[in-house]
Amino acid sequence: MPSETKLLITIDGPAGAGKTTVSRLLAARLGYRHIDTGALYRAVALAARERGIAAEDDAGLDRMLSCLAIAFSPAPAEGRVRVTLDGRDVTEAIRTPEISLLSSAISARPVVRAGLLALQRELGRGGGAVFEGRDMGTVVFPEADLKFFLTADEDARARRRFAELRGAGAGIALEEVLADLQRRDRQDAERAVAPLRAAEDAIRIDSTGLTLEEVVAAMLAAVRSRLAGLRSG
Ligand code: C5P
Repeated sequence: MPSETKLLITIDGPAGAGKTTVSRLLAARLGYRHIDTGALYRAVALAARERGIAAEDDAGLDRMLSCLAIAFSPAPAEGRVRVTLDGRDVTEAIRTPEISLLSSAISARPVVRAGLLALQRELGRGGGAVFEGRDMGTVVFPEADLKFFLTADEDARARRRFAELRGAGAGIALEEVLADLQRRDRQDAERAVAPLRAAEDAIRIDSTGLTLEEVVAAMLAAVRSRLAGLRSG
């Protein structure tokens, strides 16, 4: 769907709702960039663990963030983006269940959220991007052109995450995945700063009974209507 106007699109929602797959596909269909902001929090969590900085050590996290270089580099052959931390490829290292939980704990710290805000807004300059995360439509890009809130039943989300982790070779039980997901949802929704919630003007999509294609088709329809709205003034 090529268009002159480059929208800034946000997709928020809980873990395992399918945000990454859907965002990647939507961005590809539109010729936009896909920015997975969860990867930024995961990279910060990995860096903190490697340096022995505790999730509650605000001063240590602040110092670390001021000299940390997190970057996305396109890997077109793989159809995705790789994540680097101070030049080192950490794409796989940030996906472990341990880093999932740690990133959720660390992302509740205001110092970490403030530290990543400027980077995210910088990445958004010029539009033509699909940003996925927890607070894209509420805090980082309240003026986004189009906002989605993607969700699914807890069981469906746990089963998807389980399949993903199994595919990556992790030996983990479904019950464990469900427990981690519930803990992360609770932490993400109950934190004081930028809690997980839908922006008032977000389009809500429940992906429980929908295929990936159906979700993307619904989003593309919304993009078309937003573009038509912008054209007609
Ligand atoms: O999306 P993903 O599951 O990779 O995100 C990892 C963690 O990073 C989430 O559990 C959440 O705590 C945090 N996060 C956040 N704000 C975002 C993206 C992710 O707090 N915009």
